Amino acid sequence: MLHSNASRREFLALAASAATMLRAAEPDSRLAAVLARTISVDMHSHVGIPFGVPNAPLPKFDLPGEMKRTGFSAVIQTWEVDSVPAAAPGVDYTHFHEALDFEDRLLAATHVKRAFTLRDLETAHTQGQPVIVQAAEGAQFLEGHIERVDEAYQRGLRVLQPVHERDDQVKPMADIYTRAAHLGGLTEFGAAVVKASNRLGLVVDLTHMSYDAVKAALKISTQPMIFSHTSLVRGPGEKPGDARMAPRLLPKEEVRDIAAPGGVIGVWWHGTDTVQEYVEAIKRVADVAGVDHVGIGTDTDLEPGVGRLYTNAVWKGETRAMFPAVAEEMLRSGFTPEDVTKIGGGNFCRLFGKVTSAR
Ligand SMILES: [Zn+2]
Repeated sequence: MLHSNASRREFLALAASAATMLRAAEPDSRLAAVLARTISVDMHSHVGIPFGVPNAPLPKFDLPGEMKRTGFSAVIQTWEVDSVPAAAPGVDYTHFHEALDFEDRLLAATHVKRAFTLRDLETAHTQGQPVIVQAAEGAQFLEGHIERVDEAYQRGLRVLQPVHERDDQVKPMADIYTRAAHLGGLTEFGAAVVKASNRLGLVVDLTHMSYDAVKAALKISTQPMIFSHTSLVRGPGEKPGDARMAPRLLPKEEVRDIAAPGGVIGVWWHGTDTVQEYVEAIKRVADVAGVDHVGIGTDTDLEPGVGRLYTNAVWKGETRAMFPAVAEEMLRSGFTPEDVTKIGGGNFCRLFGKVTSAR
């Protein structure tokens, strides 16, 4: 009896996996329409800046080609001035200019534009032209000068992430989730940066802030904000994350807090070995935040040769382009076409339209 039950279970499991394989072989008939109408956005994509090398030669890779290969309509392109040490005040500010000059040259050479408004994102999508939204991961270049937020905006930034791995040397803005808290959450200057961003129409990215800092920023911001690259902390019985990742994942309460005023949480690929696992991660966040408050924020790099961080090769053996693969697996796992459009970029677009029209 026991034996035959076990055989029956094995048979059913085999039949189920055969059915899954069969389904996997046929494309979802709803996919093409979803892809056509979705302004898909990667909320966190890196570009390597050769800091300290004025007029550095541009990388040889095909930026618009790599963007098209991802299947995303737009990427939020970012760099970190704290990826290199700054020996003295002024150095981060110099690196900020180097990064923007480098990006200006890269975009001009590859005929990729920056989007400043929702209309720009819509136009780029309609024309099939990949477009970037300029971001900075870490605002250490402010060095206590609030007017540099205006300068960043004038230079084309539309997303500003106040903190990253190290503090602003002159006036730190907030505690960082991977370091011991020593600022009491958000500082006065950090609050001023949030307010200046609200006033200008610059999206604030809360990533890398401690939960206390996030709470304080939520209290004073007049606009919804993003947490562009993260995932939900894992519960008992789920696949364990490594210790390095643990402080970077959000508890349910924090996800709810960010979502409540209209915020969007971008889910990254870290910790996932397949697109199916990635869609499970999206689902975990969506179950807590609601489908109107989730996005995709890969935390990858479009330049081939950066190892596993290369956007177009994060999952071994996955041959589909990233966004179409994610969209197809989302449909297969029970998300509606409307959900895919929202999470794929619609939610970010809603927030971007609201924040950038604040002026
Ligand atoms: Zn980051």
